[in-house]
Amino acid sequence: MRIDIRLAERLKKINPSPTLALTTKAKKLKSEGKDIVNLAAGEPDFDTPDFIKEAAIEAIKSGFTKYTPTTGIPELKQCICEKFRRDNSLIYAPEQIAVSCGAKHSIFNTLMVLVNKADEVLIPSPYWVSYPEMVNLCDGKPVFIKTSPENNFKITAKDLEKRITAQTKILILNSPANPTGCVYNEDELQEIAKVCVAKRIFVISDEIYEKLIYDNLKHISIASLNPEIYKLTITINGLSKSFSMTGWRIGYLAGPSDIVEAVSKLQDHSTSNPVSIAQKAALAALKSTDDFVRFICGEFQKRRDYLVSRLAQLKKISFVPAQGAFYIFCDISKTKLEAQTFSQRLLEEAQVAVIPGEGFGRDDYIRISFAASIEEIEKGMDRIEEWLKQ
Ligand code: PMP
Ligand code: GLU
Repeated sequence: MRIDIRLAERLKKINPSPTLALTTKAKKLKSEGKDIVNLAAGEPDFDTPDFIKEAAIEAIKSGFTKYTPTTGIPELKQCICEKFRRDNSLIYAPEQIAVSCGAKHSIFNTLMVLVNKADEVLIPSPYWVSYPEMVNLCDGKPVFIKTSPENNFKITAKDLEKRITAQTKILILNSPANPTGCVYNEDELQEIAKVCVAKRIFVISDEIYEKLIYDNLKHISIASLNPEIYKLTITINGLSKSFSMTGWRIGYLAGPSDIVEAVSKLQDHSTSNPVSIAQKAALAALKSTDDFVRFICGEFQKRRDYLVSRLAQLKKISFVPAQGAFYIFCDISKTKLEAQTFSQRLLEEAQVAVIPGEGFGRDDYIRISFAASIEEIEKGMDRIEEWLKQ
């Protein structure tokens, strides 16, 4: 018997995640014993610190293994409020916080409760792969604001104004950014905030890489700039990158309590609470000092510097050095290869995994991750250099 599954129409609007697909492929090839250099990873290569694991083990042993309040245990929400006050000069009350299953889930939930059919969501391009797909899943319309390497891949208030229509509802900002590593400074954010306030546009501020920032730059939360933009902003963060906890799936959002209430309702009928054990682990992480993240940030900066020094020697590749996150977005147009072909051939012929730029909005770019040891980056760059000589 042949069954016609007739998948829901909404699935036609989205593609699989190229970042997850390639990372999985590279990990699989490696586990099969292939000598792959993985410069595709979208996660820190450091282990989760032991004190966080201990908190999770303790949670299991003490039987903290049941449902919790949908949007997180009160102690964790309180701790998140303190984190926002301490790190970002942002005052949120616990009822303005929702803990979800990763920052990706927090962003998705926000879009689900805000976007109506045909609402336009502004997305600076290049963008993280999941933003437009999530907007599509919510029946909204992604509208891209093109940026250029000349302006470090950042939008200006003018660029933003030009793309605003009567249907514009949300701007998604990501600083430090994936895949470009760009970081917005306070003046730039002030200008963007002015436009959003004047036009009543919500901002989803994805700050997941806030702690991975280099050259003594300072991360600014747009919501902290003034009371008006605060009311329009949903601040997104999580534990994945700063505590090397990608697999634990804890992210959170903070914003107007009506939005948080709506997210809570949505979560009630979809995932319920994020894993109870992971919440206890997150609590231990957020209560700790910044020692771990300061250590990994220092390591990432060394790796960034090394990768930049190697890329600078390649005539066929141009790039802007990342100011944050752990990726460099490289222009490969001089190779005359499309990113998909470039990445496929690089993997097959030189055993180096990188992510093609199509999913980020540019088919003449690739993303190289420096979430790998200096030795791996060196090996990968030796191979890329040789391969490009052919
Ligand atoms: N935003 C950006 C820009 C990211 O790169 C990631 C990494 N996957 C996320 C959000 C989501 O992180 P997570 O769901 O693991 O918390
Ligand atoms: N954010 C990471 C990346 O861009 C992880 C993969 C994903 O969630 O898409 O590679």
